[in-house]
Amino acid sequence: MFFFKKSSKEETPEKKAGLLARMKNALSATKENLVSKIEAVLGGVSAMDENALDDLEGTLLGADLGAVVTDRIMTAVRAQHKKGQLKTPDDAKTEIRNQLTAILSSRAEGASHESDDAPVSESKPQVWMIVGVNGTGKTTTVGKLAARLAGEGRKMLVCAADTFRPAAIEQLAVWTERSGTELIKSKIGADPSSVLHDALSAAAARECDLVLIDTAGRLHTKSNLMQELEKMRRVAGRKIPGSPHETLLVVDATTGQNGLNQAREFMKFTGVTGLIVTKLDGTAKGGVLFGICQELNIPVRYIGIGEAIEDLVDFSPENFIDSLFK
Ligand code: GDP
Repeated sequence: MFFFKKSSKEETPEKKAGLLARMKNALSATKENLVSKIEAVLGGVSAMDENALDDLEGTLLGADLGAVVTDRIMTAVRAQHKKGQLKTPDDAKTEIRNQLTAILSSRAEGASHESDDAPVSESKPQVWMIVGVNGTGKTTTVGKLAARLAGEGRKMLVCAADTFRPAAIEQLAVWTERSGTELIKSKIGADPSSVLHDALSAAAARECDLVLIDTAGRLHTKSNLMQELEKMRRVAGRKIPGSPHETLLVVDATTGQNGLNQAREFMKFTGVTGLIVTKLDGTAKGGVLFGICQELNIPVRYIGIGEAIEDLVDFSPENFIDSLFK
């Protein structure tokens, strides 16, 4: 598993505070739907009893955490209650927070690129495929990532392999031009694998650090999309052994549990190594991120908290939980 590692020295306290403020703002509707509702339920009881536990369960289910996460939390809360360790509503809130933190942290393994100074062996170019259903934010995310990593001094190349959507290619052209990143594209309707082949040749010739591949996302239930993605993986592996080094699945948080269903389908086929959860701003359904982590057992790499170029941030379980609970 490869990931660019950044020096922890880049993260100043001011930067961290600014990031937290932006995340808090973006996650305010989810906080309202999840944490504020938990507080409202718990605020109305003086001691934890069966009624309070049932109300709590209903609230968690209504907050897009999904049945599996709700069940995990309630099992832990009830076990503590039985042992007499859950006396006050605050104790219950603390246990919920602990459980949610544990879900995110156990899946964050390998995503420690934010603060690790250790050197990384990088073979060049690294190849990342960005996959997901249309409309989830793939193209935007590729643009944001290209700008971000180019800004960190990486020599980037973007491959517009969503050859069915002229708008996606135009959008990428605008974003890559802004960040001074080279874009390899082709005619509308061209074979995505042939564009990919050209892009990887160009990246090797120009000694690029990283190639980002924007892929098509017509409905995941169509097996031909999956076959196309598999073919692209084979083409990449033949051209650059070991690639794609990352296959990142983009999931739209606003679709809640449907997003989780889509992710399950993609997990069956394309060797997904990580997730990017977009549109966490302005949705109350951000709780779905916990369900995704719990069930898919792969790390969330980045989250999208807005439409602007700087609105893609490294995912940190600690920051995410703090943004919701603090
Ligand atoms: P694609 O079909 O998967 O390539 O999706 P696009 O990249 O075209 O994005 C679809 C829409 O989602 C666009 O209007 C984007 O501006 C928007 N979008 C993408 N990421 C985010 C995000 O993190 N927050 C918000 N609010 N909008 C986003």
